[in-house]
Amino acid sequence: MAKVKKVKDKQRAKLKAKKKSQVLQELRKNEDDVLYICTECGEQELIPEEVVMHFDLLDQGDIGEPPAFYCEKCSGIMKPKFYEGVHNITYTYEE
Ligand SMILES: [Zn+2]
Repeated sequence: MAKVKKVKDKQRAKLKAKKKSQVLQELRKNEDDVLYICTECGEQELIPEEVVMHFDLLDQGDIGEPPAFYCEKCSGIMKPKFYEGVHNITYTYEE
């Protein structure tokens, strides 16, 4: 009975799956990831908050500076657009 599937249903299922993953991505973006922006070329990258926190904890130096990463494209320094650090400091970066 269910042997013949309509193409339309298949496409719809595909779309549905796509939408679901987009929603998941959106959720991840909001909850877990910190948006980093390259100060040199403007490249943007989402880095999981737990990774940022890990470096934040390791970095016992200047807590006035957020944990920074190197840009994969130009080796410039990437800074968080918005990040609430483990030292109760909120870091923001304006392009
Ligand atoms: Zn860059």
